[in-house]
Amino acid sequence: MDSHTLKEQIELLIDLQAKEIEANQIKAELERIPARLEEMQAGFAQIQNRLEEKKALIEAWKKTYRAHEADIQTNQSRIQKRESQLRSVKTNQEYRAILKEIGDIKTASSGIEDSMLQCLDDMEAAEKDMAELNSEHQQAQAEISEKQKELEDYADDRRKAYDRLMAEREEIVKHINSDMLKKYNFVKNQIAGMKAIVAAKDAICMGCHMNIPPQLYNELHRGDELKFCPHCHRILYVL
Ligand SMILES: [Zn+2]
Repeated sequence: MDSHTLKEQIELLIDLQAKEIEANQIKAELERIPARLEEMQAGFAQIQNRLEEKKALIEAWKKTYRAHEADIQTNQSRIQKRESQLRSVKTNQEYRAILKEIGDIKTASSGIEDSMLQCLDDMEAAEKDMAELNSEHQQAQAEISEKQKELEDYADDRRKAYDRLMAEREEIVKHINSDMLKKYNFVKNQIAGMKAIVAAKDAICMGCHMNIPPQLYNELHRGDELKFCPHCHRILYVL
């Protein structure tokens, strides 16, 4: 392995770097996937909440409606009781008083009946809303499971691509001499995730875009020793 020329070693490092950059991009992409899934779920939860609210509202109206029904029944039996009392009254005054009472109860009942009609209208409207929400909910659910599946399939593909790149990386590493690899890793750690090995073009470092001193540039062209940029300390190569 040590028989490789510097040129070959540099080519291996460039190749290694390309694999690592691509693998890192895939890794970053994979890390964003759970957030994308959560975002989808959040939109769905919102529809679900609206549906729950509407359901609770309808339940409340049903309860009110039943309470009104019970009130009407109570009033009905109060009226019947008063009507039977009418048959045994002794005075006109008493008769009129009971008639008035019956009239008042009937007025109250008619008010309750109006509320019940309103309640029915509201319930009907809410149920219509709910039917719409339900179909929206179902549609969203179908869309989400489809998108989720797509995203998961995509993630699987990317994970495989990542594994493939890492295996290829391992294969390349085998052919790089350990001193060279150590230097590469050192620079890579220093510049945290950016390119550790860059081209020098027209006496300019493609990493930091600073000028490379003429002597260094000449030495670089001779290609008998690994050279570093004096400004950013990246490994340099010429094409
Ligand atoms: Zn530089």
